[in-house]
Amino acid sequence: MGALGRSSIFAVCFALLIALLSQNTHHDSMLEGVPSGKTRVLDLSYAINDKLVPWPGDEKFFEAKVNATVEKNGYFTRSFWMLEHYGTHLDAPAHFPPGKATVDQIPVKQLFGPAVVIDVRAESGKDADYQLGATRVEDWEKRHGRIPEGAIVLLRTGWASRWPDTRKYRNQDEKGKMHFPGFSAEAAKLLIERKVSGLGCDTLSIDHGASSDYKVHRLALGAGLFQLENLADMNELPETGAFLVVAPIKLEGGSGGPVRVFALLP
Ligand SMILES: [Zn+2]
Repeated sequence: MGALGRSSIFAVCFALLIALLSQNTHHDSMLEGVPSGKTRVLDLSYAINDKLVPWPGDEKFFEAKVNATVEKNGYFTRSFWMLEHYGTHLDAPAHFPPGKATVDQIPVKQLFGPAVVIDVRAESGKDADYQLGATRVEDWEKRHGRIPEGAIVLLRTGWASRWPDTRKYRNQDEKGKMHFPGFSAEAAKLLIERKVSGLGCDTLSIDHGASSDYKVHRLALGAGLFQLENLADMNELPETGAFLVVAPIKLEGGSGGPVRVFALLP
């Protein structure tokens, strides 16, 4: 290898290092820009009430009771009861075997990461049973670069526009089978190889609605990833460049639970 070869390799390495460093400074300044309003934050969680779309079969999903009122007690408190998997929620690895960690045991650093948004609104609009293939993930990488370790990969299907209409959102056929898009097992395997921290979607489940074996759940949760389901409208999210802060309830021993998901926009 000649001197020219070595120096150009050095130049490429140097450029990569600068790119990496500026990416970090970029994310730092994004956080600093939140209080001043310079950085816009999208809240990807739905407010919790008794009118959200529950998984079929659950009869009771949410209840809130007033315990004290300002008029009677001088202060206001309520108690509430809800399913762990209701509304915008996180699936902890323990939700499906062979996953182990409960929601309180997910390492904190896993809950922060760059958002990779895979936009399949067009495909989902044509085919409610659409499953994201591995080649579609590779297409994203051709345009934006390799998915970084620690990324949180969001599938934008456009299903949020059907929320909270239970009939449209579940899209059940006459046999009760649901039809909405999701990740395929092949895509999940590739993303696990990329060492991403979590998967998310704007539907009831990471697996497509008609799935009966929950392959993606078993693969992803088994590999220690978390899953975000029923994420709110992601239309404003860019395919790359946003940063996610995922804040689930710290419920000891929980299979999952309600989660607040914030997207910091570039
Ligand atoms: Zn769930």
